[in-house]
Amino acid sequence: MTPLLLHACCAPCSLEPVRLLMEEGFAPTICWTNPNIQPKQEHERRLAELRRWCSAEGIVLIEADEDSAAWERAVAPIGARDRERRCRACYGLRLAEACRVAKREGFTHVATTLAVSPYQLFETCNDVLVRLAGSQGLTPVIRDFRPWYPQATLRSRELGMYRQNYCGCRFSAAEAAMDRARLRDERKESRK
Ligand code: SF4
Repeated sequence: MTPLLLHACCAPCSLEPVRLLMEEGFAPTICWTNPNIQPKQEHERRLAELRRWCSAEGIVLIEADEDSAAWERAVAPIGARDRERRCRACYGLRLAEACRVAKREGFTHVATTLAVSPYQLFETCNDVLVRLAGSQGLTPVIRDFRPWYPQATLRSRELGMYRQNYCGCRFSAAEAAMDRARLRDERKESRK
């Protein structure tokens, strides 16, 4: 098995990438570094769920540094006006720390669970990971896990995992709430 450092955004999104990477011959160690998650209580809730799951599965979890002040400086000023630029900066902060940890701990391969969610900017995320991994001399393991997202949803529900309904930052919480309201309105309209 090839050791691999897997940056994880939450427990539900870790389920399928871990399973699929293991099937491929990788031995994932999970790395948590998500200073984007707001508020603090939400951050703690997602981390606690990931700790529980890793412990139950016997997966090593590295809790890396999280610089929320750096996130506020580098990402928050972009705000809601340019999601691609905002998320690129956000992925950059988190994956740079994951790659730094991978290098420090002697890993040669690195990946992220962000690649399972259809709500993430897949190409942007991969682009950032390829660049950052390369700068540390690491091999980025780029996989499209999105076809397994429904399976991840099902399994996480069966396991009674905590499942959030927004990506992580305050902007994504507002955007997700607006999307839900729009869908509700469209459903109401279609029933008229
Ligand atoms: S939407 Fe998600 S990836 Fe984008 S800036 Fe917010 S927390 Fe980061």
